[in-house]
Amino acid sequence: MKKVAWRLRFENNALIPCKGEEGSARLVPSRRNGAAETPPVQQPDSQQGEGVLFTPLRIPGNGNRVEAPDEFVPQNGKQVLWYCCGPTVYDASHMGHARSYISFDILRRVLMNYFKYDVFYCMNITDIDDKIIKRARQNHLFEQYREKKPAPAQILGDVQTALKPFLVKLAETTDPDKKQMLERLHAAVTSVLGPLQEAVQRGAAAIEVAPKAELLLEEAKDLLSDWLDSQLGSQVTENSIFSILPKYWEGEYHQDMEALNILPPDVLTRVSEYVPEIVAFVKKVVENGYGYVSNGSVYFDTAQFGGSEKHSYGKLVPEAVGDQKALQEGEGDLSISADRLSEKRSQNDFALWKASKPGEPSWDSPWGKGRPGWHIECSAMAGSILGESMDIHGGGFDLRFPHHDNELAQSEAYFENDHWVRYFLHTGHLTIAGCKMSKSLKNFITIKDALAKHTARQLRLAFLMHSWKDTLDYSNNTMESAIQYEKFINEFFLNVKDVLRAPTDITGQYEKWDSQEIELNKSFYEKKAAVHRALCDNVDTRTAMEEMRALVSLGNTYIAARKSNRQAPNRMLLQSVAAYLTDMLRVEEEKKRKKEEAAQEKQEQEAAKLAKMKIPPSEMFRSEMDKYSKFDDSGFPTHDAEGKEISKGQTKKLKKLYDAQEKLHKDYLEMVQSGGSS
Ligand SMILES: [Zn+2]
Ligand SMILES: [Zn+2]
Repeated sequence: MKKVAWRLRFENNALIPCKGEEGSARLVPSRRNGAAETPPVQQPDSQQGEGVLFTPLRIPGNGNRVEAPDEFVPQNGKQVLWYCCGPTVYDASHMGHARSYISFDILRRVLMNYFKYDVFYCMNITDIDDKIIKRARQNHLFEQYREKKPAPAQILGDVQTALKPFLVKLAETTDPDKKQMLERLHAAVTSVLGPLQEAVQRGAAAIEVAPKAELLLEEAKDLLSDWLDSQLGSQVTENSIFSILPKYWEGEYHQDMEALNILPPDVLTRVSEYVPEIVAFVKKVVENGYGYVSNGSVYFDTAQFGGSEKHSYGKLVPEAVGDQKALQEGEGDLSISADRLSEKRSQNDFALWKASKPGEPSWDSPWGKGRPGWHIECSAMAGSILGESMDIHGGGFDLRFPHHDNELAQSEAYFENDHWVRYFLHTGHLTIAGCKMSKSLKNFITIKDALAKHTARQLRLAFLMHSWKDTLDYSNNTMESAIQYEKFINEFFLNVKDVLRAPTDITGQYEKWDSQEIELNKSFYEKKAAVHRALCDNVDTRTAMEEMRALVSLGNTYIAARKSNRQAPNRMLLQSVAAYLTDMLRVEEEKKRKKEEAAQEKQEQEAAKLAKMKIPPSEMFRSEMDKYSKFDDSGFPTHDAEGKEISKGQTKKLKKLYDAQEKLHKDYLEMVQSGGSS
């Protein structure tokens, strides 16, 4: 193993970022701030070029079948080209999304801020997709239906009609999760359908029938939408319907990411804005001999590609090749009808370009009106921004097959190369208290739900305390550990602050070191080295966090030992430890929030003071009708609410208030005259 060269610079190693971090004050002023030049980074003698830092960052395995060394070596010095598969925007972002995007944000910040790579980060938004098309059409048709205000009997009849195909679908569904969800829907619908049917048959009054019909409409929304779509979906031609829905959810997505304090991508690509690039991409894949046209659609020829000497298909998950369930999920609900499947040369082939059916948005192409397949978007967008090869491609674990294998195949078919991606990073799954997250289990947690319970900082701590590539269980336990960690660190900072608060002069801050200080300092350097080793090891934040926790324990023990001996703890040393942890964990976030709160409070107080100044003394008691009933000419109270004359003692007290207000109001008038305030 190479020797660790300790040449790291400690500013800005934010594992936990804060908004507007540049120039924000530190909890503990770092001695390194404004220090003279940091010694230049000494390169280890290696042929790898300047991309390799101190000890090499290793990003091994992880299903990474692409030829690249374990040692992370970008292709061009310190520059890292990074593409991340973004969200398909048709619904609220949930914790499964958070799993991926928080983890990538952590990885990105560690590479940028700790390892000082120059990261260029590109992410896409999938805004053309079977799920979006279907959801947009269904929402539109259901709203149309509702606006027509159908009579209760009609709603009843329509739901009964819609139930027939629904029950067929229910019987055919094998996925236990989906089946359970459909069964639940069925139970909900029948429970409100019965009473309505009974009321209609008995000829009950409208006042009784109408709310029952409204309830049925609500419960049967999904069922009716599906049925309406099967009847009328092909007649939806208004193209804007297909863009309003994704635009809305994209906005919500960005808001969620901002609330989670996730850095925005350097460049964001929307599929809807890249259709010409996608068409050109598909054309070239066909020209290169790896795609074919069939009925206005274009498919990727997996056999041709896999059989070619230069290429191999399914590099990432070879054992999944031929998995029809995964493949069809990748193709999309609207694209797996029997006619569609039969136009392919092999059932393993996948769509590059889909001929649009009636009721689907479409764009012009050499093959007729159509729309992009799913996988092709990432190949075309990443290709156009990052070129023929990127250093890192990120996505959730589920994207490995077919999405990433197909992206790889298409791109290498387009560029005729074998190195489109150097390192794939796939983030682990997320479970909710040990269970798979699913709508049917009612444990579906949106990002907004999670943020209502915990701060973005606590969520991030929880993620940091787990490996980014393994399954993360989001549970009370997980969050409790994160909260404890936060508390533990915060308490340490308070302890250090307390030590630093003791007055001293400029020479007094340099205290003689005893064996206790020498001991703590030795451990401090060992812990820093351990944190570094952990981050070098495939960005193992879990171990890094444990090492930092151990460092805090050592610091606490040291402070306690000194205090119990009636000795002052060493300021300089504690300051160094705190500064290191501050840099690593960015506690300023919390501090900044407190500052903002204080500023707001001050503003409110000033506004209240100004409002009080505005009242002339002659008016100040008149408004208090519950206390006084009569006043003299100057507005001074003479009788209380019951009509009794006010006592001398009371008058004296009120006079004082009156005089004070007179002075305050005089100040106000002067201020207004001098144009100080309005
Ligand atoms: Zn991808
Ligand atoms: Zn993708």
